[in-house]
Amino acid sequence: MTASGCSYNGGSCHQVVESCKGCGRSMELASGWYCSACPEPSLKWKNGSCNLATHVSVAVASNGTKINPLKASKRGQR
Ligand code: SF4
Repeated sequence: MTASGCSYNGGSCHQVVESCKGCGRSMELASGWYCSACPEPSLKWKNGSCNLATHVSVAVASNGTKINPLKASKRGQR
């Protein structure tokens, strides 16, 4: 969705869903709140969190990457 209109499904984007509140990609237009990255936000939240959301990405990143402290310290010595 862009300010000039939507290219999805014959020009009709879907508005953001409840979970999109606080996301940096949601934007307010004359006809409501839309996502600038995805034409149908409800699909993005169907299987867990939206992968494009700016307000949940931090939580996902902290769970997903585990660093081995021993290897990390060795890397630092090089
Ligand atoms: S990027 Fe995801 S969370 Fe953000 S507004 Fe779009 S659909 Fe919603």
